[in-house]
Amino acid sequence: MTKPLRDLADGSLCCLNTATLGHREPIDTVIDATARAGFGAISPWRRDVEGHDVAAIGRRIRDAGLVLPGYCRSTYLPATTSEAFRAQVEDNRRAITDAAALGAQSFVMVVGGVAEGSKDLEGARRQVEEGTALLLEHGRAVGVRIALEPLHPMYAGDRSCLNTIDQALDICDRLDADPGPDPWLGVAIDCYHCWWDPTRSAAIARAGAARRIQGFHVCDWLVPTKDMLLDRGMMGDGVIDIPAIRAEIEAAGYEGPAEVEVFSANDWWQRDREEILRICRERFATVT
Ligand code: ZN
Repeated sequence: MTKPLRDLADGSLCCLNTATLGHREPIDTVIDATARAGFGAISPWRRDVEGHDVAAIGRRIRDAGLVLPGYCRSTYLPATTSEAFRAQVEDNRRAITDAAALGAQSFVMVVGGVAEGSKDLEGARRQVEEGTALLLEHGRAVGVRIALEPLHPMYAGDRSCLNTIDQALDICDRLDADPGPDPWLGVAIDCYHCWWDPTRSAAIARAGAARRIQGFHVCDWLVPTKDMLLDRGMMGDGVIDIPAIRAEIEAAGYEGPAEVEVFSANDWWQRDREEILRICRERFATVT
């Protein structure tokens, strides 16, 4: 790789995904602490925001000097009845309206796995595509991009039947065939979910060529991993060559921030907020 990696030491390209702090404090506290710790961006979750004054939260984020790359995340789409499917789409539509009020650049979609009580994986994937088409239309109307986030295949049963970057890009190509220079539909690429994939490098290049990389999430894969959901590692503590993936993402033309997203019930979420933020910044500067 000839192009040097961008400098993450000064924090302006570092984003905090609020899940990293374990959702223990009000969003206003988290926004202020994130800005104080020198991050340039913050990606909040719906659980931090819904039920509050969404526009005021958006203003507070901007006033703190932070950008908001991605609002997390969609309600799962696959359902066994058409009524339930429509309700999930509607719920996501409301969240996208909130994303617009927040000033979020994109709405991050974790699409859901096989519908409860079903074994129809392909049917779930068809519903995801159908639902994404409807949400893309709404995103365009309110000015919010839709970012499909493929998840590691260990989640295909419950959290996501979208499991590779190529699979997400195929949906983008089908639903948004003539996207122009700044597509409304793209992908969020998370190291944790794609590091193992032998087609990853080519898929990242493909995503970049189509200008569809809308987010880049980082954390690490611990060995052993003790919990499928809540035992993610801080950058540098596991087996992912994160700088190698970042090099691919940046060579593909991605200019947005790197976003730390660590779900860690028994380790990081037990630690003090300021310690977590400080160590995130250190690891961004040294091993990301
Ligand atoms: Zn992610």
